[in-house]
Amino acid sequence: MSDISTQLLHHPYTPPSGFQAVQPGVHRASTVIFPNVAALRARDWRHKTGYTYGLHGTPTTFTLEQRIATLEGGRHCTLAPSGLAAVVLVGMAVLKTGDEVLLPDNAYGPNKAFAQGELAAWGIAHRFYDPMDPGDLARQLGPRTRLVWLEAPGSITLEFPDLPALVASVRGHASPHPQGVVCALDNTWGAGLAFNAFSLGADISVQALTKYPSGGADVLMGSVVTNDDALHQLIHLCHMRCGHGVSGNDCELVLRSLGSIALRYAAQDAATRTLATWMQGQPQVALVLHPALLDSPGHATWQRDCSGAACLFSAVFHADRTQEQIDCFCDSLRLFKLGYSWAGPVSLCAPYDIAAVRSRGWPHAGGLVRFSIGLEAVADLQADLAQALGSAFGAP
Ligand SMILES: *Cc1c(COP(=O)(O)O)cnc(C)c1O
Repeated sequence: MSDISTQLLHHPYTPPSGFQAVQPGVHRASTVIFPNVAALRARDWRHKTGYTYGLHGTPTTFTLEQRIATLEGGRHCTLAPSGLAAVVLVGMAVLKTGDEVLLPDNAYGPNKAFAQGELAAWGIAHRFYDPMDPGDLARQLGPRTRLVWLEAPGSITLEFPDLPALVASVRGHASPHPQGVVCALDNTWGAGLAFNAFSLGADISVQALTKYPSGGADVLMGSVVTNDDALHQLIHLCHMRCGHGVSGNDCELVLRSLGSIALRYAAQDAATRTLATWMQGQPQVALVLHPALLDSPGHATWQRDCSGAACLFSAVFHADRTQEQIDCFCDSLRLFKLGYSWAGPVSLCAPYDIAAVRSRGWPHAGGLVRFSIGLEAVADLQADLAQALGSAFGAP
């Protein structure tokens, strides 16, 4: 073995074992090396009892999966390359041609788009239900319904639904499907901290780890957690067949942030409530949507089921304020940046046309802006909102 390339690749040195550090090590792999042919033949890639190929798991991905399962109070976790990929994975694992999926009308927009696009093309029907009316969900359930999505609170408009009542509607439905109807919750807002998805009745809890678990606005990742062995097996096999790998380095970033998730959640919650309450007192604003506010839809349910709230609120302006003025308000903000996503360190805002994305109506005529509160000082953020309101709408 005189060739330098061969020597460098097959070097005899191995570092001493027993190294311990605060953060778990980062493993990256496509190839996983087997000790002999018998071991290579014996490995079953469907089970997480060992390693077969980087795509199917490394010590780093397994470690993050276990910690996310713990965060959510579940037993099994599967990681996906984005929150949306995790949402799509659930649909692909559970649904087949002829089935139907029900989504809340205020569901995360790209979840609706996947139902309207790929699922429709694959012969899988969808309907939108009113998340604030468990009776409406009960009426929409049919013999072909196989999957019901839940989201608490709804995307952008933040209505907080009665999850146990919605799940009760599903459990009360006599499904002809041998495995019944699966209740999947998009739990990105709760993050496993505001409430326990499984004790409120969900079979599956999906999170965009992109949001709180990362917290840095620099990672895209998603998770699918369940307590149900059979459901986990469905999801796990679909995940492998689809080739959804995640990078060990991205897992490292999430593992590094995970230790501070509860502190960040609480700090951003407190700042968000302060600013939402202040915004509610501004003369240009008709309504602020945040489940901790008394007149926000589902407030009482939020109070019953939750111990906290995420860093989002939406302001609905009075109907006589023009979209041009509202756009000018967003453009005038200096600390708040314009952009999507949330739960990162920098505060964000974005205007939305809600009437255009709801199939079951929207009661407000005024324009809406959604805010994500970051980690800046509350007084600075409030001053920024005040100066932008002043420049867009003039003195109140
Ligand atoms: C951001 C988000 C997702 C998707 O996460 P990505 O990682 O951006 O794909 C899904 N659901 C909700 C509620 C979200 O806010």
